[in-house]
Amino acid sequence: MMDLKKQYDVAIIGGGIGGIMTAYRLTHNNPALTVCILEKGKTIDDRICPIIKKQTTHCARCTPCAIMEGMAGAGAFSDGKYIISTEYGGWLSEFMPTETLLNYIEQADRILVSFGATTERYLPNDNLKKLCLQYDLHMHQAQLKHLGTDDNFVTMKKIIDSLKNQVDIFTQAEVQDVDQSSHQISVDYQGTLQAVSAAKIIFAVGRAGSNFFSKWCKKNQVPLHNNQVDIGVRVELPAFIWEDFSREIYEPKIWYRSKQYGDITRMFCFNEKGCVVTENTDGVITVNGHAYRDPAKKTINSNFALLSTNRFTQPFREPIEYARHVARLANLISGGSVLVQRLGDLERGRRTDEKRMEQSTTKPTFDAVPGDLSLCMPKRQLDNILETLHALDKVAPGTANYDTLLYGMECKYYSARPECTNFEIVGTEGIYAIGDGAGFTRSLAQAAANGLYVADLLSK
Ligand SMILES: Cc1cc2nc3c(=O)[nH]c(=O)nc-3n(C[C@H](O)[C@H](O)[C@H](O)COP(=O)(O)OP(=O)(O)OC[C@H]3O[C@@H](n4cnc5c(N)ncnc54)[C@H](O)[C@@H]3O)c2cc1C
Repeated sequence: MMDLKKQYDVAIIGGGIGGIMTAYRLTHNNPALTVCILEKGKTIDDRICPIIKKQTTHCARCTPCAIMEGMAGAGAFSDGKYIISTEYGGWLSEFMPTETLLNYIEQADRILVSFGATTERYLPNDNLKKLCLQYDLHMHQAQLKHLGTDDNFVTMKKIIDSLKNQVDIFTQAEVQDVDQSSHQISVDYQGTLQAVSAAKIIFAVGRAGSNFFSKWCKKNQVPLHNNQVDIGVRVELPAFIWEDFSREIYEPKIWYRSKQYGDITRMFCFNEKGCVVTENTDGVITVNGHAYRDPAKKTINSNFALLSTNRFTQPFREPIEYARHVARLANLISGGSVLVQRLGDLERGRRTDEKRMEQSTTKPTFDAVPGDLSLCMPKRQLDNILETLHALDKVAPGTANYDTLLYGMECKYYSARPECTNFEIVGTEGIYAIGDGAGFTRSLAQAAANGLYVADLLSK
């Protein structure tokens, strides 16, 4: 076990892609800088999820969660979709010109390519966009790369290995507090409380650290601005149904405004021939999905998120808690797991039970508990999801089949945003926030770009 030094030039809290890219750029810009990464999870090699290893079918609520926490962050077992666009994937274009953002996304891509990531890109497709528009569906356009869960993991491991000579990487090092004026960081490092300080500190804590970071902001009187929350389901269906899209653009990213409420529902996080998985954020189990590049690991199903966007106004200020509450209800009803229901059963107002599940022609890739989503999803979001599924069925017939599987809940709660000036937290000197944990990004590409940008600010 390596000792924590007493003082660093820069301490990065969180070893996800945001933190890793920050460290990479800092040490390339100025090799003399002393830099450490403090990561609450394990080393990338030690991140073993018992579900992925098929040791259990249900989330064992490990601490730390191997899927969300550890070196390479939430991206370690992700699908490795790399979005080369400013249209979606986060909100960084609110903080810098779109050309600057795109430039940083491209820089991050070049770094990934230098560590072996694919150079193959899917390009925007106007014909598919037009088809969608004919049915009032709005498709985002982007260049997209699909590294796949397997290649993405290998690429991230190579970058982390390359950093080891220049950066002190501490794993199972959970930051408990940061003193705003002395810059002293209290860390629970493999079971003992230690202290380290740094001239510059960067919070790069991702979604797994958003609770911790919000609490820190509140304690330090940093104003926080709430983001939207998205609540919905993971849809799983035979891969044939969306193959006309996935062959051309890999990921159809489509939004729809429901006629009933005027709410936006988004289809995104598409995984062709992939698997449904669960993730555990601070004890709440939700669903997600990913796909391998290796043909041997592909399934016959594709899956995607279908989420209804919610923005709350006065007096309610806890949108993340709202989403967690809804997800907890699904955990409660399923006995600590997530639910799966056939669309046809849901629309007929009946539960999918074990027997009905066995009759399903779409075979689930995740062993969720058959149940009734209408018992835990609020009516408004449920109506939005159903209306959108039928709209999507017009451009990809079969989407709204009886045996389309819906897993719940899937929630994307974007962390509350701290007030910052060029990513430096207001009221502090030299304490910065980046990535998903600060509510600025929601993708690998933008979290990586955010890290490079802040590293340039600190070292150029
Ligand atoms: C299953 C899954 C699939 C995904 N697929 C894609 C995809 O295909 N394409 C895409 O663009 N995005 C995808 N995403 C989202 C993407 O992974 C994130 O947007 C990205 O990882 C954010 O990077 P980050 O560095 O901001 O945070 P993270 O990657 O979340 O890293 C933050 C790190 O900080 C650590 N941390 C938190 N609190 C503390 C603390 N107190 N002390 C020390 N360390 C702490 C955490 O353990 C974590 O390792 C996916 C996410 C998941 C979960």
